[in-house]
Amino acid sequence: MIRFLILIFFVYIAYRLVRRYLGTGQKNEPLGEAGSVDDMVKDPFCKTYVPRRTAYRRIVAGKEHFFCSEACADRFEREGEGEGD
Ligand SMILES: [Zn+2]
Repeated sequence: MIRFLILIFFVYIAYRLVRRYLGTGQKNEPLGEAGSVDDMVKDPFCKTYVPRRTAYRRIVAGKEHFFCSEACADRFEREGEGEGD
């Protein structure tokens, strides 16, 4: 039984090494994720620019918007764009 576990362990290590070896080729592609760090999006409610990766995303009226906070998303959903006020 112990030998079986050791075998599993070595197979796992080999699997990790192969995965890491194959994975290095894809590291040079920063745009693989949704947007890069410098990708700024505008909050349509308070007109603030926020990094897309930290922005609060919400679909309003079938259109995708990005907000600086959930509060802005809620208010935009209720009141629309804050320009008129
Ligand atoms: Zn905002």
